[in-house]
Amino acid sequence: MNKILDRVIMLQNCIIITGSPGTGKTLISNILSKQLHVPLVRATEIVTTYGLGSYDPESDTYDVDVEDLKKILLKVVNAPAVIDSVIPDILPQELVELVVVLRLDPIVLAKRLVSRQWKVKKILENVEAELLGIVTYEAVKYYGLEKVVEIDTTGKTPEYIAEEIIQIIKTKDVSKYQPFTVDWLTKYTDPMEFRRRILTMINNY
Ligand code: ADP
Ligand code: MG
Repeated sequence: MNKILDRVIMLQNCIIITGSPGTGKTLISNILSKQLHVPLVRATEIVTTYGLGSYDPESDTYDVDVEDLKKILLKVVNAPAVIDSVIPDILPQELVELVVVLRLDPIVLAKRLVSRQWKVKKILENVEAELLGIVTYEAVKYYGLEKVVEIDTTGKTPEYIAEEIIQIIKTKDVSKYQPFTVDWLTKYTDPMEFRRRILTMINNY
């Protein structure tokens, strides 16, 4: 069968690309949407287009009305589609075929966030959330173990990661991508030392 046609019919429903900020959601979801020939929906674009967020200078973040975001997404999403969202539980279960949580070594992630010149508190919060695997936890809590996969993106090119996801959709073989197998806490055992490394990185930037 024609390779493109093969990919068009491969995805029946929506695929959510999620993960901590800086793990590569925007980059990977863009490649996937092109390769799978399905529309791309970015949660952050909906937030700005519909004015759903208010900026909180204290925390340097946008407070988003998630319920409003979910309602609008439901109206604009026409399955199949690729959804780029930092919040995993953004669409009802029945519209979602697969949730991909992009994981990244938190020290590598910290380097990316430091170069975004975020406030120290915001960098620490996000890097520590990645260390703990918060997004995977949230994704599994809502969609269940069967629909969620985790990919360790550390040291891989975006194209390689996109191909891994396409293979997961195609073969439905998720054995190498079970949630909670990426475990940064075994690698970074001392939380104070970990925090010191991040702070040094910020100070030296
Ligand atoms: P997110 O949307 O999750 O915040 P982005 O897609 O914006 O993440 O990526 C964050 C930064 O990291 C960007 O500068 C991007 O070019 C880079 N990046 C993303 N994925 C990779 C990768 N696999 N290898 C190297 N750099 C990457
Ligand atoms: Mg993004």
